[in-house]
Amino acid sequence: MTSVNDLRSSFVGYFARNGHEEVASSPLVPRNDPTLMFTNAGMVQFKNVFTGVEKRPYSTATTAQKCVRAGGKHNDLDNVGFTARHHTFFEMLGNFSFGDYFKDRAIELAWTLLTRDWGLPRDKLMVTVYEDDDEAFGLWKKIAGLSEDRIVRLGAESNFWQMGDTGPCGPCSEIFYDHGDKIWGGPPGSPEEDGDRWIEIWNLVFMQFEQQADGSRSGLPHPSIDTGMGLERIAAVMQGVHDNYDIDLFKALIAAAANATNAEVDGPGNRSLRVIADHLRSMSFLIAEGVLPSNEGRGYVLRRIMRRAMRHATLLGAEEPVIHRLVPALVREMGQAYPELVRGEAMIAETVRLEEGRFLKTLGRGLQILEAETAGLGEGATLDGATAFKLYDTYGFPLDLTQDALRARNIGVDQAGFDAAMAQQKAEARRSWAGSGEAATDSVWFGLADRLGPTEFLGYETETAEGEI
Ligand code: ATP
Ligand code: MG
Ligand code: MG
Ligand code: MG
Repeated sequence: MTSVNDLRSSFVGYFARNGHEEVASSPLVPRNDPTLMFTNAGMVQFKNVFTGVEKRPYSTATTAQKCVRAGGKHNDLDNVGFTARHHTFFEMLGNFSFGDYFKDRAIELAWTLLTRDWGLPRDKLMVTVYEDDDEAFGLWKKIAGLSEDRIVRLGAESNFWQMGDTGPCGPCSEIFYDHGDKIWGGPPGSPEEDGDRWIEIWNLVFMQFEQQADGSRSGLPHPSIDTGMGLERIAAVMQGVHDNYDIDLFKALIAAAANATNAEVDGPGNRSLRVIADHLRSMSFLIAEGVLPSNEGRGYVLRRIMRRAMRHATLLGAEEPVIHRLVPALVREMGQAYPELVRGEAMIAETVRLEEGRFLKTLGRGLQILEAETAGLGEGATLDGATAFKLYDTYGFPLDLTQDALRARNIGVDQAGFDAAMAQQKAEARRSWAGSGEAATDSVWFGLADRLGPTEFLGYETETAEGEI
């Protein structure tokens, strides 16, 4: 079996042999890029190289990049536990050309790796191209020998790649793998595409433009290549399993979670085990970089991820903090590739344990309230916004945790009502504030309050230093 760790080096080694510079993963918290919450693709660290602003001593590169998609333009938080192929944290394998090779070499390198070095059967593969990219269409025919019915033309929504609202972008071409007719889903472009039968494994982006904040697009100085392949997805293919959560790495994490909660891996709690295994990775990698749970920005995304995992542990029957006990399993699986996990192990576990302690104080009571308020609701019903806000404000339930908790029962949450309750609370705080009499000071205070949002009830720990991180 090809392990995840072997595959990572196999990919990077292949591109290194083909003249690419091996570059380390950049941090999840992008340096000097306030437009982006977390690194969500391999190209992020090369953004300025594509636009020509920054020069590097090499013109081609390869990486295994840590990515988090749990907020912003690419957000897969709600997919975790529901699809076979999405994680909040994953590794993106990539090869890059900065004005060096373009479409033909990129297609040739990708096709050779997949079908020759890794031996994937060509009749299991299919590709998409941007609708008017005749060049890419022709190259797939010529280089890979694919028949025309295996090359699908699709529109901008799926085949035009953008990192965010600004930055380098371009048409792309994606490679899909067919996991077989026992699994529901159809080929790319078909109405059943969203099923998990045909899984997108690799995206080749032909970087040609730079998206400006004013909506206009300018040409890049040199056409370039940016590719991204999900390590966990290709590991599933290479290990002969359909589901990312059945690869060696996830099996180990899920086994650890099952062990800590006394749950059965294939029992009714399987979805919770997947969520815990997934969220364990994103929280640990973020904390290893110094992100801490808080009530705003990146810290709040982290807190949402942590609390979701904690609720799922509770669902499995855990009454004590357990997530922090899973950190060593992650370090065993990924510590060699990512030494920051080894260095940060104690700090990660302690940060998770503190957050568990904080949240478990109010989680049980919050769940009781949620239960009571939704007992009479049937499928398709909506929980009122005031209750969702109370859960948020008093019991520390991020809105998406409440949504996640109700999703299995097909109950929605009145988001407008939630927002209104939040706005009302802010207005009341403003009224009850007599004011310092200095307009300037007051406007600073309210500006801050608006930006930071209401303070969550953190139990009684707020009195002590330990309660605050
Ligand atoms: P999908 O359509 O399946 O959500 P995507 O088109 O959003 O994937 P890209 O932005 O093209 O993904 O990213 C490049 C590659 O990274 C994908 O082809 C896939 O292999 C991998 N990938 C993307 N998102 C995830 C995720 N949430 N978890 C695991 N792998 C991912
Ligand atoms: Mg996606
Ligand atoms: Mg896609
Ligand atoms: Mg894609």
